[in-house]
Amino acid sequence: MVVRSIFDSIRSIESVSCIGFRVSGYFLRLKEEDTNTKPDTFIMPRFSCLLVLILATTPLISFAQVLDPTIQAGTTEQLSEHVYWIPDQKKPIIPNVGIVVGEKATLVIDTGLGETNGKIVLDEARKVSKTDRFYVVASHTHPEHDLGAMAFPENATIIRSKAQQQDIMEQGMGLAKRFSTFSPIAAEQLEGAYIRDSDLIFENEMTLDLGGVHVRLIPVGPLHTGGDLAFYVEEDDVLFTGDVVMDQFPMPLTPKSKITRWLETLDKLEAIDAQLIVPCHYRTGSQDLIQNYRDYFSHAQSRVIELKHEGKSDKEITEVLTKELTEKFDFWSDPGRIPRTIAVAIRDLYQ
Ligand SMILES: [Zn+2]
Repeated sequence: MVVRSIFDSIRSIESVSCIGFRVSGYFLRLKEEDTNTKPDTFIMPRFSCLLVLILATTPLISFAQVLDPTIQAGTTEQLSEHVYWIPDQKKPIIPNVGIVVGEKATLVIDTGLGETNGKIVLDEARKVSKTDRFYVVASHTHPEHDLGAMAFPENATIIRSKAQQQDIMEQGMGLAKRFSTFSPIAAEQLEGAYIRDSDLIFENEMTLDLGGVHVRLIPVGPLHTGGDLAFYVEEDDVLFTGDVVMDQFPMPLTPKSKITRWLETLDKLEAIDAQLIVPCHYRTGSQDLIQNYRDYFSHAQSRVIELKHEGKSDKEITEVLTKELTEKFDFWSDPGRIPRTIAVAIRDLYQ
């Protein structure tokens, strides 16, 4: 029964691919550390998960720990004059939270999963804020980025892009329900969770004047989701890139995603030439993060075209290219995400 329920959980997690592969990646890293096995021998996330689970002496405890979405209170760090972040501790289903503090208001970028995490984020934001006036915006509408908004005070302004609003209309709480199956802690934190209504919806880029600091809200989707946003803090030269540029394999999750659009977006983000880049997950960086994503998507795109010309089937292309990309980008976690990129590159050929 226990084994069956673990297997069911994995299946359920993997069906939410964005998170599933991230969780798989975590298990992959455990496996690599345990055995010094090269990651390219484990390109099938489900099997690697199962293998590690079988090897683990306390799989249920490990599993629950991996899927604890609790943001760590007291870990807020200052990144620049007006910008702070609460790092994700490199844990799945926890975002890097951004806090931009002005004289007139504070902007919070991503709020964590549900009310518990939203309260932690609000408390952390209050510690560094100069006023009790908050703007709240998610980099995209996945539950761990958006659902903490419910904990913010009535007078907080919840801002979403038109495309984010569309994502919410299409998904509702469906994805959150999936998240609640990940672990008892996730289920507990999602109890009574709801999507806070938007107070302000914008379509094209908008700029927030927080008092002495301005933040551009830049719609860049559809890439990871339909409504991805980037945020540029002008005075501090800091760029928040959501799940669109990170130090791990990207996940083109929405069916609207295209490799060409991702590459164009990377050009746009690179042109901003920010000093510091803060992704939604994992470490901060600079232009190297953008360059790595460009190398990855360009390689995937050009090799799909080449292999197609050689007469390879989609299955063969996926096999060959997954191996290539796993080896070339062996500094990233979650290689289980690669086939999704290849599928998008193949789909692009027919559109
Ligand atoms: Zn996401």
